[in-house]
Amino acid sequence: MRPPEHVVEALRSLPRPVCAYVYDTVALRSRAEVVRQRLPVPASLMYAVKANGNPSVLAALASSCDGLEVASGGELTLARAAGAKRIVFGGPAKTDAELVAALDAGVQINAESVHELHRIAALRPGVEVVLRVNRAGAALSGSHSMTGTSTPFGVDSSLLRAALAVPGVRIIGFHLHAVSNNLDGHAHAAFVEEALRWSLSTGINPRVVNVGGGFGVDYLSDASMDLTPLSSVRVPPGVDLIFEPGRYLAADAGWYAAEVIDVKTTHGRTFAVLRGGTHHFRLPAAWGYDHPFTVLPVDEWPHPYPRPSVSDTPVDAVGELCTPRDVLCRGRHVSRVRAGDVLVFGRTGAYGWDISHHDFLRHDPPDFVIV
Ligand SMILES: *Cc1c(COP(=O)(O)O)cnc(C)c1O
Repeated sequence: MRPPEHVVEALRSLPRPVCAYVYDTVALRSRAEVVRQRLPVPASLMYAVKANGNPSVLAALASSCDGLEVASGGELTLARAAGAKRIVFGGPAKTDAELVAALDAGVQINAESVHELHRIAALRPGVEVVLRVNRAGAALSGSHSMTGTSTPFGVDSSLLRAALAVPGVRIIGFHLHAVSNNLDGHAHAAFVEEALRWSLSTGINPRVVNVGGGFGVDYLSDASMDLTPLSSVRVPPGVDLIFEPGRYLAADAGWYAAEVIDVKTTHGRTFAVLRGGTHHFRLPAAWGYDHPFTVLPVDEWPHPYPRPSVSDTPVDAVGELCTPRDVLCRGRHVSRVRAGDVLVFGRTGAYGWDISHHDFLRHDPPDFVIV
């Protein structure tokens, strides 16, 4: 994926060596608009803050979505500062302090266990909550499955009756987030329809059915999940159907750029060694794939000594950390790469900076540029 001209312009104006995330707030807003057009009507669109909690990203998405989904007290604070119209709060290990902060702020809580229901009832008797359920047989294909399999998320469906019987809380619906990075839109629509059918079959007359996020992007190509099958999902009257995607809203609005400090070949492999690496963008190392990049040529070379350069060859894009695991991409063919050029990695607006181990080796953080 080539960066658009305004992103290239922003990168060209940065101090050298370039090391930056560029977040494009116009792209965020237009993506949210596209998602909204494809969702069933009526539905609520919330953005999952954990994908990218940068305040400017949150401000853009807080205004273009119906609300924000948070999973910690820290995210709750950010979401409120961003002006979220509505907030829902999930997570398997909420502390009493986090629950109280959320309850005080009028946030909708997705309770994840029978024990948590008891705790909420004790903290705020009579409060309405949504119950997260890990249903049997509800698995979807994707990079992470969170339901229909053993996970710490939600109550096992065999405990549904026990959960519904907890005194002191009113369960008004279900949270059924099931997967991350699903690429099959038809399967996703079928999952949503099944989630609605199941929720109505529980006998509680649900006012909320939250089907979570999980809309996927394919990091190895330009493809994303086709959302159009979702628009034909029929929403039962009186049900607030909530979607809370993270990756799909934020991925394409982020660009990670890192300048090539050195180019070298050892034992037959060629490396472009970057001012940057997996401590800024951990996703390819965490998931074990090669994240594509484009070379942004920088022609100036003010130095008297020779410029390291290779042409028409596969290179590994590696970072500045002192570990052989600091690899963003292996074996990508380049027509040319030189020290001083900048590698630009697209689709890095979600689960990029936010999931990375920033302090390992204590290099300076990247610049954050908002366009
Ligand atoms: C992570 C998460 C999301 C967002 O998932 P994406 O795959 O980024 O769309 C939504 N809801 C919950 C409960 C989550 O944990």
